[in-house]
Amino acid sequence: MNRILIAEDEPRIVSFLEKGLQANGFTTAVTTSAADTIVMALEHEFDLLILDLGLPDQDGLAVLEQLRGQGKMLPIIILTARDDIGDKVAGLEGGADDYVTKPFRFEELLARVRVRLRNHQATDGQPSGKNERILQVGQVMLDLRTRQAQIGDRYVDLSAREFIMAETFLRHPKQVISREQLLNHVWGYDYDPGSNIVDVYVGYLRKKLGSDVIETVRGMGYRLRA
Ligand code: CA
Repeated sequence: MNRILIAEDEPRIVSFLEKGLQANGFTTAVTTSAADTIVMALEHEFDLLILDLGLPDQDGLAVLEQLRGQGKMLPIIILTARDDIGDKVAGLEGGADDYVTKPFRFEELLARVRVRLRNHQATDGQPSGKNERILQVGQVMLDLRTRQAQIGDRYVDLSAREFIMAETFLRHPKQVISREQLLNHVWGYDYDPGSNIVDVYVGYLRKKLGSDVIETVRGMGYRLRA
């Protein structure tokens, strides 16, 4: 199991990241200051660090410098609200592996986490794991590389959001997924929780994939019928 250290001081983002990563099988630990992050990362084994640049005591770049300076080679993904290119370049030159600009969709971050873990393990000479390409539950099949959906023999065109939503359902077959989880996964934490966008998109998916593919679980959310 992969252990991920989250260095972030904004509670809303921490909880968004923790929930999402744990739902995808990762173990997480959280630090909210640069000083704690350095100690934690040096004293414990993590497979990846998600590092906010705007930490309260010191800039995240200082953490990056410290860790790399002390020979810590774990993959580091920077989170930054500052989308000016200067910080990004400084971050990457300072030894970060990737960066994500806030606000971000959880799926975007997750994809980067997976790539970094895979690359890192591959360069460590460990097996890089099964190369996941096709997700299939019942008649519904998603090709994660071509972003193509199929029902039996029939190809279906899905928009980018519809595809991510379908992917979320297929990764958790038979589980009830709440509206809030779907909002987090497909739209990111920045979306208005009062919105009915999830229901609208479930409607789109039912139209395209078949009305009985996703069932409504009253008061709880939605579930993919396997
Ligand atoms: Ca911050």
